[in-house]
Amino acid sequence: MIVRVALPVPLNRLFDYAIPQGVAMPSVGARVLVEFGQRHLIGIIHSLSDQTDVPSNKLKPFEALLDKEPLVDSEQIKLGEWAASYYKYPLGDALIHLLPNLARKEQQPFSEPDYWQLTNAADIESLPKRAVKQRALFTLIGAQQPISTSAIREAEFTAQVQKALIDTEQIEQCKAPSLAIPPIDSVQPSCAGLVLNDEQQRAVDRIKQSEGFDPILLVGVTGSGKTEVYLQSIEQALADGKQVLILVPEIGLTPQLVERFTARFNTNIASLHSGLTDRMRFDAWQSIRTGQSRIVIGTRSAIFIPFSNLGMIVIDEEHDASFKQQEGFRYHARDLALVRAKQLNIPVIMGSATPALESLLNVQQGRFQELQLTQRAGQAAAPTFELLDIKGVELDTGLAPDIISRIDDHITLGNQVLVFINRRGFAPTLTCQDCGSTIDCTRCDARMTLHRKPPKLHCHHCDRQTPIPRHCQNCGSDQLRPAGSGTERIEQRLSERFSNTNIKRVDRDSTHSRQAFETLMNEVNSGDPCILVGTQMLAKGHHFPNVTLVVIVNTDAGLFSADVRGMERTAQLIMQVAGRAGRAERPGEVVLQTQHADHPLLNTLVTSGYLTFAHQELVSRKQAQLPPYAYQAIIRAEAKNQGWAEAQLTRLRGALESTYSQAQLPMISGPFPSFMEKRAGMFRAQLMFTGDSRTSIQGTLKAAQNWLEKDKESSRVRWNIDIDPVDSF
Ligand code: ADP
Ligand code: ZN
Ligand code: ZN
Repeated sequence: MIVRVALPVPLNRLFDYAIPQGVAMPSVGARVLVEFGQRHLIGIIHSLSDQTDVPSNKLKPFEALLDKEPLVDSEQIKLGEWAASYYKYPLGDALIHLLPNLARKEQQPFSEPDYWQLTNAADIESLPKRAVKQRALFTLIGAQQPISTSAIREAEFTAQVQKALIDTEQIEQCKAPSLAIPPIDSVQPSCAGLVLNDEQQRAVDRIKQSEGFDPILLVGVTGSGKTEVYLQSIEQALADGKQVLILVPEIGLTPQLVERFTARFNTNIASLHSGLTDRMRFDAWQSIRTGQSRIVIGTRSAIFIPFSNLGMIVIDEEHDASFKQQEGFRYHARDLALVRAKQLNIPVIMGSATPALESLLNVQQGRFQELQLTQRAGQAAAPTFELLDIKGVELDTGLAPDIISRIDDHITLGNQVLVFINRRGFAPTLTCQDCGSTIDCTRCDARMTLHRKPPKLHCHHCDRQTPIPRHCQNCGSDQLRPAGSGTERIEQRLSERFSNTNIKRVDRDSTHSRQAFETLMNEVNSGDPCILVGTQMLAKGHHFPNVTLVVIVNTDAGLFSADVRGMERTAQLIMQVAGRAGRAERPGEVVLQTQHADHPLLNTLVTSGYLTFAHQELVSRKQAQLPPYAYQAIIRAEAKNQGWAEAQLTRLRGALESTYSQAQLPMISGPFPSFMEKRAGMFRAQLMFTGDSRTSIQGTLKAAQNWLEKDKESSRVRWNIDIDPVDSF
């Protein structure tokens, strides 16, 4: 017998190894350590076989079997295999995604997490008075023992402090606490849910009746109580002893959301967010794999976790682009969730106020069942919309005078205001008043953004940062002026104008940590009048009950995008930002500044709502034969020298066209230089495929993948394949 091993290497195949003498028969799904060239790699056993193409004198035994029990089951391997094949990603590299980081890197992370307690001789007074940290850790362990190392790290004590206590025999390792697995039928709501309105009740009833594979699109306007519907819909699955996965967008995973689930259910909830260390993530992964965690709230990669008994998947904000990984393994978590749900024969609930056009078409074609929540829950009324025509209006730092006076009105009434501008920094660029030139990044075809806090020029594409120059590099003039406005500049202007009001800026620069962001949100929710100025960080997941006015500064930015989904994205963003307004008793008002107050789709959106807009947009996509009525793939390539990437894609296109007839191929366009040809010093190009069936795209891209892997000149370009791209740049 030999083992076929999936290894994290960019080759789309498995590797055969012999089983060393004296090693018991390994299980599929366990990890092995193997020699690969000069390296030692950790891989997953994909299958066992009694045949191999490797000549017996070349066949090496693997070095060590790392797990007695499989870490991932065969269903899970099937999902990984399906994804690798569908997204045209090397099999081993894809399968390794089934493991958390720690298990990919460390050979032996599977010891029980180590636990610590105070020794019998422990005495805090024997510690030096100056050893403040050691004393603090002593107190923590005393209060919480047995406590795991990862909990100690989470409380921000270093290994050094811990070691000092071990060395002086204050603490010792001890047995793990007995795992409190709740008996299966004990996972009942620990407090009563809200009394549902009729629409919510209908939705919950329908979902509870659901059996087997059953994709449901829950379309509910912002504030309609979708989360309450999820909470009551998963009761049944939990009471049946099943696990539930809740997938949320990157910025949707807030402590408030976790809090709502924790408050409702008396069970272990695993929340998988980006703030976890590898060890914490691993421990959470283990608790899901062994069935201890019954509710899992996570971002896209949670779809790969090997649940022991998954009974339902919920996808919140299903339209969100962060469900698609945009680099490396370019999978879409919503689409994989559907594959997984079908495999396990379980329901999947996709919720959104602004569903993706793909999902709406799936409803039209009868593949998804649609449930609607058209009213806001509780007392809240829907906000009113207004397009504010700024053609010919002189703006004050990007804001119309009319906007400033409305902000004034709302603040005077003691309310809060949200000003949305999708651009961080002080100004998008510095321009020379004398010769008109701008300051560009040397590594990208892009302008350097001006920041004031701290002062610098910053390229948002490659992260290059430079001091602010005094003189124009082109003509030497000292008349350099900021052009346009970002969050910092609007913040500055509003603090001058409303000097007695608290102005809070929310963007990636102002809120470095999760912690900082949460603190800020809590301050806002205390209810004092304030003006929030921010980017799309403000658009998701958070409720601002006291916000009564939402201003969208640069509505026009997304109206004329060359991307197929540009208008859809813009509409979703507008509705999501608008949805922050008036979520409690006070009604909300949404004002959009625009030069295009007569733009037909924008008018449809604000007067008739997102669904009417979306159905009109679907009609024009159908006429143009664009997604979701067509299927797309993009091959992107980049190289150090201009022209190389394009030349390679041209050869690829030639190879495809000489092997297949036109009827066998989808429509191919390009190669073209990318929208931003140069980025971070690399020159980029892309080739686009559009076909009317998945089959034609899949077949052609499989051939392209094989050709690129084999072609010698591919080694001087970096290339990747993007199936069902969510943006076409
Ligand atoms: P969504 O997820 O659709 O934006 P949420 O579930 O967060 O909406 O609900 C919005 C607000 O309405 C929350 O404060 C929630 O507590 C409240 N809410 C939801 N359902 C009800 C209900 N049936 N009765 C009263 N309040 C409700
Ligand atoms: Zn100049
Ligand atoms: Zn740059």
